Amino acid sequence: RAKETGRDSYAFFTERMDADLRGKLAMQAQLRGAILHPGRGEFAVHYQPQVCLRTGAMLGAEALLRWDNPVLGKVPPNRFIPLAEEYGLTNAIGVWVLETVCAQIRQWRDEGLGQVKVAVNLSGSQFAHDSTVPVVEGLLRRHGIAAASLGLEITEGTVMGDPDKAVEALRRLKDIGVAISLDDFGTGYSSLAYLKRFPIDVLKIDKSFVDDVTAKASDAAIALSVISLAHNLNMRVIAEGVETREQVDFLAAHGCDEMQGYYYSRPLEAAAFTTLLRHKRPLQLSDT
Ligand code: C2E
Ligand code: MG
Ligand code: MG
Ligand code: MG
Repeated sequence: RAKETGRDSYAFFTERMDADLRGKLAMQAQLRGAILHPGRGEFAVHYQPQVCLRTGAMLGAEALLRWDNPVLGKVPPNRFIPLAEEYGLTNAIGVWVLETVCAQIRQWRDEGLGQVKVAVNLSGSQFAHDSTVPVVEGLLRRHGIAAASLGLEITEGTVMGDPDKAVEALRRLKDIGVAISLDDFGTGYSSLAYLKRFPIDVLKIDKSFVDDVTAKASDAAIALSVISLAHNLNMRVIAEGVETREQVDFLAAHGCDEMQGYYYSRPLEAAAFTTLLRHKRPLQLSDT
């Protein structure tokens, strides 16, 4: 009996593994198709405003990739980016995102909407890839846009894997003139000694600390520590995932520079973001 049960659960286990693997392979195949045929329009870049906490003015946006596949429907980036990374597809996707964003920045400028600053997320393998610096340089030149209008976001995990190599890669990106943000700060492990050596412009306080920043003393303490750490290292601080007025007031009162979150706006399709640029009104802050 026991043997039978054992065999059953083993069969169940492998069946489930097979199903998981089949699901992954199917998604991988769809993802490959989407990259090979960008004309199908499965990918889109959405733009989430980044807002100055002192004046309420919109300062720029973060580019967030969206994938809508005819078979799988809408798949969130937290699901397909790790898969793309596993199958070596992130570099191709990343180049498409950079290209799309650079063309969009140029278009906004041509429409008289100013030089909009956009930060693009870089995957780990993209960051480490030798072609990334020449690709970024080439795109800036081809679209005729200033390096100051492009930012790149990387996570702690990306830079801390091989910190010495990361310092070098960051230097090369900085030399082009693009701004660099350390994303999801506080969720990985960062050596403070390396943080000092990384040529980074912005620390982004992870949403997990922002969520309870007004309710939990420990999260407030972490947020305040990140703000003073950043300022002491001459970096700016952006709080991500800001959803309430109370969070805005707390962060503004404690010197956080910028925020991003549903409180101001969700990530928007390019057309909706363009409308926002046309009619942009500063956010009303309580202490201004
Ligand atoms: P991230 O870079 O930390 O981006 C912030 C995420 O928080 C986004 O999720 C955004 O939609 C979400 N968010 C912003 N404000 C709020 C808020 O107030 N409340 C809540 N609940 N969520 C908020 P999204 O767009 O699903 O992206 C998830 C992650 O996928 C990103 O995290 C980033 O790591 C990755 N990602 C997105 N686009 C790209 C891309 O083009 N390339 C790469 N390599 N990764 C990307
Ligand atoms: Mg990001
Ligand atoms: Mg983030
Ligand atoms: Mg995050």
